Amino acid sequence: MKYRKVKDTEVSVLGLGCMRLTTKTEDGKEVIDRDALEEMVKYAVDNGVNYFDTAYMYHNGESEIALGDVVQRLGIRSRIKIADKLPHWNLSCPDDVDRLINEQFGKVQTDYFDFYLLHDMSRKVWDEKIVKFGVIEKLLKYKAEGKIKHFGFSFHDDLDAFKYIVDSSDGVFDFCQLQINYADAAACHQAGLEGLEYAESHGLSVIIMEPLKGGYLANAAKHVENELPKDRSAVEYALDFLWDRKEVTVILSGMGNMEQLKQNIEYASRSDAGMLTDEERSKLMKAGEVFNKGANVQCTGCAYCMPCPAGINIPEVFKLYNLCASVYTWETGPKQKYAKLEGHADDCLKCRKCESMCPQHLKISEIMDDVDKTMQK
Ligand code: SF4
Ligand code: SF4
Repeated sequence: MKYRKVKDTEVSVLGLGCMRLTTKTEDGKEVIDRDALEEMVKYAVDNGVNYFDTAYMYHNGESEIALGDVVQRLGIRSRIKIADKLPHWNLSCPDDVDRLINEQFGKVQTDYFDFYLLHDMSRKVWDEKIVKFGVIEKLLKYKAEGKIKHFGFSFHDDLDAFKYIVDSSDGVFDFCQLQINYADAAACHQAGLEGLEYAESHGLSVIIMEPLKGGYLANAAKHVENELPKDRSAVEYALDFLWDRKEVTVILSGMGNMEQLKQNIEYASRSDAGMLTDEERSKLMKAGEVFNKGANVQCTGCAYCMPCPAGINIPEVFKLYNLCASVYTWETGPKQKYAKLEGHADDCLKCRKCESMCPQHLKISEIMDDVDKTMQK
């Protein structure tokens, strides 16, 4: 495993994201498969991974509990770094900050977080929740007591908003978490590569999320793959695009099974800043441009928008809609799967409840009209 630093703390260049863990059905309910998680966490730690990222809302609140449980069972708390996040959705007064972080200490069975982030920052959330409720001052007290070792924020807005938050935060943050991959970089989506450089120039380490754009870059369409350099897998190139950048500290990957974990650990062990040639970098950016032309919706499948009151599985609907465009599937596969779903685009009530939760700021209710035209149940 290779390591980079956040301040003076060494972190593995590969982090285990706990947003898309392996699940199983128990009493008719989908729950995290804790035995599978234990096996993965053990293998990861034995092979040098020391960064584990969870959040209040992942797996409907079960991710924090499952991770805390597995860490206790394996007795590895002192060997790993745990990152958790404050959910702004649950903040309606300043006292909620204390209530939520203390609830999180309980759920994860720890009395400190190595990394603690304000989750899903945008200019609007920053102004209307973080500043308004004095969240920074509150959390700095936890940092002073040693209960937060490194303080940061995760971000989903545009470059101007990113600079605005960095500039307004008066140097309180040690790190930030950005969504960057070669497709988003090519589209200058969210903070982008300019944001990455801006973070570094302001003393912030950068953790990367969605390196494979919710898995889309792992199974890139033929016309996208054709643009990639040929001597590594599509996944390895997507990760190398980021490890190549000296500003990147950790790449979080939501590895769904042992095979993916083993593969990514192998890729991480080969990684290095400056590892790509100029030709490889420009091929990846070109592949990103081609990908962006093919995808209908820039949905990452995060499921923050769920549940939908009309019973529409929004990420699944968008996944199938994208498959129709970006995988060159003239065949009927995605449409057949769409027809079998319980809720369909034309069931949308236009309540827009989902839109306020979407970190990609998608106009979901409007896109549903396009989906309906294309997919037709
Ligand atoms: S706008 Fe449509 S898709 Fe979004 S939550 Fe409402 S019913 Fe569901
Ligand atoms: S529509 Fe937005 S919130 Fe919903 S899964 Fe896609 S990216 Fe996530």
